Amino acid sequence: MRPLLVSLNLLEIHHLRNVLEVEGIRCWIKNELLSRLAGEIPFTECAAELHLVHERDRPRAEALLEVWRRPPPPASAWTCAACGELLEGQFGACWKCGAARKD
Ligand SMILES: [Zn+2]
Repeated sequence: MRPLLVSLNLLEIHHLRNVLEVEGIRCWIKNELLSRLAGEIPFTECAAELHLVHERDRPRAEALLEVWRRPPPPASAWTCAACGELLEGQFGACWKCGAARKD
């Protein structure tokens, strides 16, 4: 069985496992201890692997993995409470009058 995710970052592996288990997808980690030896043995031999307990969960797990990897959506546009200017989401303050974003 191929792993769902291969990574030297155990935090990442654990986080994703939590995300999947909340959704009812059971998984297990291979090489968890070995990954601590990274740098001493080749990456391909020591990276931790996240595996599914049930292969039937793969399509759902991969969909969740994709959502998890995607950067957060851009902030929504907002209207300045002071002058009414419509501003794009990435701005934290009004470019026109300098008022800070309230919401
Ligand atoms: Zn303004």
